Amino acid sequence: MVDAKAAKSRAKPAAQSVPRGSSIPPHAHCRICQCPVDLKADPRVCKDQECIAELERRETSERRMRTWMLIFFGLFAFTFIGPILLRAVA
Ligand SMILES: [Zn+2]
Repeated sequence: MVDAKAAKSRAKPAAQSVPRGSSIPPHAHCRICQCPVDLKADPRVCKDQECIAELERRETSERRMRTWMLIFFGLFAFTFIGPILLRAVA
């Protein structure tokens, strides 16, 4: 049987810049591969071309999703407000 905890700690090699025993300095993680990146990195991805492309893809689909949600919310709101407005006019 494999010890899950031991396997996990082995899978993630210690960062060279972080001295042992001290607290981890503020840092950010790549939104795609979760590897540590600079806090000021913007967009928050590492320099990997794959991660940059993947982020681009995600943001495009996120934007599309937000637009659709706005449309649905507008329709949903209209089903409530519409009759009230019509009644107010009539
Ligand atoms: Zn990455």
